[in-house]
Amino acid sequence: MPTGRYAPSPTGTFHIGNLRTAVAAWLFTRPDDSDLLLRWEDLDTTASAVHEAAQRADFERLGLRFDGLELRQTDRIEAYREVLADLSRRDLTYPCWCSRKDIRDAPAAPHGPPGSYPGTCRDLSRTEIADRERGGRPPATRLRTDHPHVTIVDRLHGEHSEIVDDFVLERFDGTPAYNLVVVVDDHVQGVGQVVRADDLLASTPRHAHLHHVLGQPEPEWIHVPLVHDANGDRLAKRDGSAGLALWLANGRTVESLLAQIGRSLGIALSDAADLGELAAGFDPTAVTTEPAVYDQATATLSLAD
Ligand code: GLU
Repeated sequence: MPTGRYAPSPTGTFHIGNLRTAVAAWLFTRPDDSDLLLRWEDLDTTASAVHEAAQRADFERLGLRFDGLELRQTDRIEAYREVLADLSRRDLTYPCWCSRKDIRDAPAAPHGPPGSYPGTCRDLSRTEIADRERGGRPPATRLRTDHPHVTIVDRLHGEHSEIVDDFVLERFDGTPAYNLVVVVDDHVQGVGQVVRADDLLASTPRHAHLHHVLGQPEPEWIHVPLVHDANGDRLAKRDGSAGLALWLANGRTVESLLAQIGRSLGIALSDAADLGELAAGFDPTAVTTEPAVYDQATATLSLAD
């Protein structure tokens, strides 16, 4: 009975793609009747209580309930620092003073895929480190890896491999990085099944690698497709134009949205449905990797053909 989770960043208004992912996360827990936990990923400076309240209101309107205790990442800074300290004791971290521009301008990493960290600060001498420390600009902290080729297995996408580079664990401003906290929290919450949008698929080998380094089992990975607009662009949380409030303001119902979300996840439904009907018809093997398209003009969510 793998425990699931939904981990929203309260950085804007949910769009229909976020709601679809939340409903999918809940549906994937239904066959085993397992728990779905909620985690607020609120470390981003644009996270706010106002956005969180709006996201909570959307869950309520959909009838989506979570189990157990909520976790809030801003309450967990000490726990992340302890994991970082443990990795540092094992000599698995190093300070990095590179700016984005430094990384762009450096010769490509010998092992890494495009955009991966070229290793500039990886083997600095004590003197070089002291020089940089005197410069006064605080460093980020990176994980020291041997650039392993890590393959994860995703329930929808199958095998996905990446070469894992020395990714950032703590940003230069002291904020623990997403790629660290997601791994720490999924383990602490006992999460056995991660359902999230597939823009994170490429980061998942990093997460799997860090789970291995920390001696933790990897959860099952299920990356559901993003929702695009009629022009093929991803929906964004910014403007709320594809959100539930506007959907309802235009005279539509929660049940009609749930029916559309359910159908886009392969469930045969009429034009209106509640969560119970979605769960009753849910077949995990009917979910595809095709992006869904939300056409705002006609307020329809459909799979791309
Ligand atoms: N907080 C991320 C988001 O709202 C999701 C991260 C995850 O599920 O691992 O897009």
